[in-house]
Amino acid sequence: MTKKWVYLSRSASEELAQTLGHEPDLAEMKVIFGGKGAGLANMTGTKLPVPPAFTITTEACVEYMQSGEFPEGMWEQTVEALKDIEAQTGKKFGDPANPLLVSVRSGARQSMPGMMDTVLNLGLNDETRATLAELTGNEWFSYDAYRRFITMFSDIVMGYPREHFEQKLEELKKREGVRTDTEVSLEGMKGLVEEYKAMYKARFGEDFPTDPYKQLELAIKAVFDSWNGARAVAYREHQGIPHDWGTAVNVQTMVFGNMGNDSATGVAFSRDPATGKHEYLYGEFLSNAQGEDVVAGIRTPQRITLADSRNWAESQGVSEKDRATLYPSLEETMPEMYHQFLDIVDTLEHYYRDMQDMEFTIERGKLWMLQTRTGKRTAAAAVRIAVDLANEGMIDKEEAIMRVDPTYVDLLLRPSFDPQVEKKLIAKGLNASPGAAVGVAVFDAARAQELAGEGKNIILVRPETAPDDVPGMLVSKGVLTQKGGATSHAAVVARGNNLPCVAGCEEISVDVARRQFAAGNVVIKEGDIISIDGFNGEVYTGSVPMIEAEYEKQTALLTLLEWADEIRTLGVRTNADLPQDAQRAVAFGAEGIGLCRTEHMFFDERARDAVVRMIMAGDDKEKRHAALDEMLPFQEQDFEGVFEAMDGKPVIMRLIDPPMHEFLPPREELIEKVATLKCTDPDSPELAEKEKMLKVVTAQWEVNPMMGLRGCRAGIMYQGLTEMQTRAYFQAACRCAKRGIDVIPEVMIPLVGHVNELKMEREKLERVAQQVMEEEGIEIEYMFGTMIEVPRAALTAGEIAEYAQFFSFGTNDLTQMTFGYSRDDAEGKFLLKYVEGFDTGEVDANGEPVLTPILEANPFQTLDQAGVGRLVQMCVEEGKAAKPELEIGICGEHGGDPDSIDFCHRVGLDYVSCSPYRVPVARLAAAQATIRHSK
Ligand code: PEP
Ligand code: MG
Repeated sequence: MTKKWVYLSRSASEELAQTLGHEPDLAEMKVIFGGKGAGLANMTGTKLPVPPAFTITTEACVEYMQSGEFPEGMWEQTVEALKDIEAQTGKKFGDPANPLLVSVRSGARQSMPGMMDTVLNLGLNDETRATLAELTGNEWFSYDAYRRFITMFSDIVMGYPREHFEQKLEELKKREGVRTDTEVSLEGMKGLVEEYKAMYKARFGEDFPTDPYKQLELAIKAVFDSWNGARAVAYREHQGIPHDWGTAVNVQTMVFGNMGNDSATGVAFSRDPATGKHEYLYGEFLSNAQGEDVVAGIRTPQRITLADSRNWAESQGVSEKDRATLYPSLEETMPEMYHQFLDIVDTLEHYYRDMQDMEFTIERGKLWMLQTRTGKRTAAAAVRIAVDLANEGMIDKEEAIMRVDPTYVDLLLRPSFDPQVEKKLIAKGLNASPGAAVGVAVFDAARAQELAGEGKNIILVRPETAPDDVPGMLVSKGVLTQKGGATSHAAVVARGNNLPCVAGCEEISVDVARRQFAAGNVVIKEGDIISIDGFNGEVYTGSVPMIEAEYEKQTALLTLLEWADEIRTLGVRTNADLPQDAQRAVAFGAEGIGLCRTEHMFFDERARDAVVRMIMAGDDKEKRHAALDEMLPFQEQDFEGVFEAMDGKPVIMRLIDPPMHEFLPPREELIEKVATLKCTDPDSPELAEKEKMLKVVTAQWEVNPMMGLRGCRAGIMYQGLTEMQTRAYFQAACRCAKRGIDVIPEVMIPLVGHVNELKMEREKLERVAQQVMEEEGIEIEYMFGTMIEVPRAALTAGEIAEYAQFFSFGTNDLTQMTFGYSRDDAEGKFLLKYVEGFDTGEVDANGEPVLTPILEANPFQTLDQAGVGRLVQMCVEEGKAAKPELEIGICGEHGGDPDSIDFCHRVGLDYVSCSPYRVPVARLAAAQATIRHSK
């Protein structure tokens, strides 16, 4: 028996159940039928009005990709499936008396805007066109359908760009002196069809195919081939979608939204994809139009609900009178259809338990559902929808948490334009995808890619966008289009990729050829800086300053994070050095400070001078102590501020870490200065001072400073330094405690490689801590621990644990030293290339080179679990075996990375510590790790 390649939508789930031996869930259906096919099967199964359809499986595509031919039996099964549709509709494919027309669409497991989309009206030829005219009593309509079919078939199946055909239509409209397509005369449409056929023949040397079966065969092949088209491959690369999934092909009975004023077509989201609001149905339609018209942005679409229509009119400055006559809502024009549609949307949302993105057509007063899929959404909408669905009882809290990508949380904390500053507004369009973006205006995708490669921030400006523009959009900071509505291609792709987007900005006129756009009397040329506001649709000249996101006002996010806190077992602390950072981190939900880099307290110029004096003092004890005494108050003051901010939460103070020369001027600079002064002012006291400093700097100079005199080695070598820091810290702690602040001090030694370093530093610390507490007349509890950032420390964890109450993994240094990659130089020299990959001569299906990477990810961003992670795991096991109550955390950059957080959860760390802005991300990622690994 040959394999089953083709499934009828009406029986697809039952038949797949037979093949699999169990009821398929949605994910399994998507694997075989693609998202669109699964949607059709589910809608048909739920008894919704869906035009009869069938799906050719992704497996057939995979076979085809290997052999270049339809797999055995697939075509026969396709013809069989067509017969079933014929029986259901009473029409016949290719029958001049009562022709069946179909649409052919691609549909991968995951929606892919880079792929082939849709061919409509397939099955038309001269004869079937004539019948269509007769049956509908509308000859004009039949020619319009035919010219659309020839355009789409030529463009999508044969690769003859649709612009050539559209240009002819534009010329015709000009000749006839009309504005819209529907005003073109019957004679005009007839002539156009003939012209199109002649164009086809001239290009391909043969007639436009009239045999519907031939049309279908070519269309199916084109869908399969589009899987390996350059755009699709690029999109998959960007999104990390595997190349071996293949796409399904959906063949569906045509219904027409352009059969007169009782017909319409539209797209709708069950909730607002930009904000997640659930006030009304968010969508657009056009009466007497075909689906492509809505997305193409040729006519201004109308809104579905009255409320949305009024909001739209207000934002566009359209009067209520004009709105009601020119752009009425579906709710007003076809109330019955509207209510039926609302019921269907409700059924679909409950079935999928998620926001749906739907396409529908009304053919002569009958509503048909053409497609439903889980809608793409912005970060803000993703959070809001997840929380709302949980509150509405459709999903539970855990599912809500799992539905939000932690990187979305990061996006929500991104800045917006400062409302206080004056801006030069030049145009206003639709707020299609939220976010603020500043960059240089660029007018085509290729140029955008080129300039982005040079590190420029780009705003891609297009009349409208098409799949070809996707690679350019993805490298841009924002997108601005002249045409197209809130469901246009630009809007959908931008939202799906969290790109700020202003769409349908009719106040600008884009001239791609001259690489410029005009807005009133302002002309913006390529390279000019503009700012676009995807929150309100405004476009400004120049670079508008931004302000921080208002975290406290994002109620849905706050709720989601509260739920995350209830679930997660991993603690979340922050890396904060100064009181204001600590305050911000607490507001973001930090439960303590996992790393206070005390050297950052010396950024203040006066404090820095004291540090320089301390270094310059050399062996002069008196001078060194005088400088240390000067440094102390700066530290103490900041420590007090930090303890106040963290009232009741632990604060890990790390003793000074960087190589000391970082506080001194660069050696090259000093050499130059000394040389100049020797020539120009040989007797100046400045020369003497610089010469002295150069001597010290030269003495300090190291070939490899990151492996040199830093971390605890500095504390050991510079006598008095550890003592000064300890004193400042404990004075602050004692004094705060006396003021009623709940202090939980913890002190951490960096860069320990041998237990003796730890012993020596610990002894100093305990002595000074005790001394200070006696002086201050107060006893406070504190902990003493070490960073684990040298491989030797991880390898001798058992020994080290005896002298430490806690470990904190400094995975920045641990990665540096495990790989032997300099954390300061590797990225600039070779590491990014290691991740991007090398051309080793391998090519993909299009003959494009495939790059072979050395590393899957940058190990300084995502923890290398196999290597560095192994050290971490061993260290945890041996440390805990030696001391079961040992507290263990991580404070390297990886503490804010979701994948690394998952790893930290698995190896049993107590907490992660990350920069303040990543605290919310870490809270969510930690909850996800708990959920993921409790199943
Ligand atoms: C680390 O090495 O991971 C760390 C947190 O310390 P620093 O980045 O300050 O060296
Ligand atoms: Mg370190």
